[in-house]
Amino acid sequence: MVIFTEEILNQKSHMLELLKVLRDAMNHEFRGFYLDYQPQVNGRTKALTGVEALVRFCDEKGNRISPVEFIPVMEKEGMIYEMGRWVLRQAIRDAGEWIRIKPDFDISVNASALEMMNDQYIEDVEKILEEEKFPAKNLVIELTESSAVQRMDIFRNKYKKLREMGIRIAMDDFGTGYSSLEFLKNAPIDLVKIDRSFLKDILYSRFDSAFITFIVEICHDVNIKVCQEGVETLEEYEMLKKMELDCIQGYYFGKPMSKNAIRNKISAECQTEGND
Ligand code: C2E
Ligand code: CA
Ligand code: CA
Repeated sequence: MVIFTEEILNQKSHMLELLKVLRDAMNHEFRGFYLDYQPQVNGRTKALTGVEALVRFCDEKGNRISPVEFIPVMEKEGMIYEMGRWVLRQAIRDAGEWIRIKPDFDISVNASALEMMNDQYIEDVEKILEEEKFPAKNLVIELTESSAVQRMDIFRNKYKKLREMGIRIAMDDFGTGYSSLEFLKNAPIDLVKIDRSFLKDILYSRFDSAFITFIVEICHDVNIKVCQEGVETLEEYEMLKKMELDCIQGYYFGKPMSKNAIRNKISAECQTEGND
């Protein structure tokens, strides 16, 4: 009993400490926050087509804290909206350089459902794109499936407005929520990202490989593109090659990396294309 209480107290003080550090960082122009980018490749040709921006935080002592840990804290404490604006601006600033080299390059940015619920959201996205002079057609906004489905009544209109601006909407972590298939029927979205949990057993499970094939077929029928997340090995990729995925992302093609590493990759690919 005593140990249990101590554990809770420790957890609480850890959370308070984390909250303090995050607040402090935000008040100093997001000091310690930065973005890594994970490559996304064409499912057939393996060519680099875009990246997903993933936020990182490193405290003053040099400890890296995972977004899985700090994002829920920021959501709970009302800090996520401001962080989301910072992430979007930073990501499209970096991507501005990449689209000059490769005009059809995509940048995907994650949005928390709490961000999208903010009344200012659409206006702010529009304003940031305008201020940074970034074309909406190169931007994809990712929302996790559970939040996208639960809040569909509120979000439908917002998706519509974003899509009218030329932004594409992706449903993240597909397959982990409840009404996945029902949702697809009328979903105002452009891309579905199948969660890694369906890929993990694809080499042994007929169900999981059939699931991916099935989702690709349904989505393509209604003009939704499909991306598989979390591809880690050549064996997994070989298996997926037959499934006509539009896009693939995972450690096998590149872990999240710095913006400089992405720029080098884009330049290298463009040179190879030029030499062909
Ligand atoms: P997510 O959007 O599903 O992002 C993919 C996560 O899977 C990333 O973890 C990535 O590093 C990891 N991953 C990529 N390829 C592989 C693979 O082949 N194998 C395995 N095992 N993992 C892989 P990360 O960077 O820790 O991000 C975790 C989550 O934090 C993200 O999941 C996303 O929900 C959230 N997140 C990250 N950046 C942001 C952001 O800017 N805003 C918001 N709202 N959420 C974010
Ligand atoms: Ca994502
Ligand atoms: Ca995901």
